[in-house]
Amino acid sequence: MKGIQAIKLIISLVVCFGASGLGALFMADDSVTNWYAQLQKPNITPPDWVFGPAWTILYLLMSISVFLVWNKGLDYPKVKLAIGLFLIQLALNAIWTPIFFGFHSILLALIDIILLFIAILATLLVFKNISFFASMLLVPYLLWVGYAAILNGSICYLNQQELFSVSSQKINNTIMKGLEMKADGDSVAFNKLTPEEEAIIINKGTEKPFSGEYYKHREKGVYICKRCNAELFTSEDKFDSSCGWPSFDDSIPETVKCQLDKDGIRTEIICNNCGGHLGHIFTGEELTAKNARYCVNSLSLSFIPSGKVQKLQNAYFAGGCFLGGRIFFPKYRRCKIYQSWLYGRAQTKPNL
Ligand SMILES: [Zn+2]
Repeated sequence: MKGIQAIKLIISLVVCFGASGLGALFMADDSVTNWYAQLQKPNITPPDWVFGPAWTILYLLMSISVFLVWNKGLDYPKVKLAIGLFLIQLALNAIWTPIFFGFHSILLALIDIILLFIAILATLLVFKNISFFASMLLVPYLLWVGYAAILNGSICYLNQQELFSVSSQKINNTIMKGLEMKADGDSVAFNKLTPEEEAIIINKGTEKPFSGEYYKHREKGVYICKRCNAELFTSEDKFDSSCGWPSFDDSIPETVKCQLDKDGIRTEIICNNCGGHLGHIFTGEELTAKNARYCVNSLSLSFIPSGKVQKLQNAYFAGGCFLGGRIFFPKYRRCKIYQSWLYGRAQTKPNL
């Protein structure tokens, strides 16, 4: 009899921790941490290290709880219903991580976690009729999920743009793939990169210090993205930091995006237009009045001397698809700034 009990306990543990392992698969990708790191989070967010130990304890309590109920025997009143509810809440729990971290869908994750909270509450109430102690073991889990639902809801509220940018990003990629195949090279396709440039821009490498073409470059003009030609830095903001790479203390507004490097320590800088890797930004070194050093790989840049920078001209387009405009113009590298209207509301975006 004790042997059967041990097997039931082991099965309970394997099923519960197996469900948690399914979610962990989605955490392995670097893009997950980068995406999560750039989200706005409420003040009540606990530090990342809390989640691991907290969930381990909760899964352990959950396993013991379902074991206690199952141990009463499947013929015991309401045990089948209780286990059924338990498995439903476990499934809702398991799909949360893939929805949030895999598909970056904060809103769907919120719906899932609300359903999860309801399912845990229902499970707890049915468990209570079978074993009071088993139901009490689910209380910390219920409270934690309630707290997590509030966190998820706050992230939803603070990142409203992200809610829609995910789907548009996916459409964007699909459309752009099609367009790039048809493009005649000068419209939407990115510049062809050499293997050395690709190692830096796409694979986020770093060129050897003191080796780059623009390290000691002093000419007046604009530095553009090697991949998409977006204007990123001007010679006005370039300074000699003696670090071995071209250094700027500022970028052209809204052209360079900062994000946590995959090393979790440094801040990576990427082209806001094409996402190409540029280098890293360091602050607090007090090298210039702006107190920032954009440390950029020469291979990520091209240079246009002052006299050759083209003057901007306006072009007006009428279209029936607001989203289509927002998708297409940012990718059209000759478009430096665009304004789109939706229901009379104008939205201006630099596209440098
Ligand atoms: Zn670019």
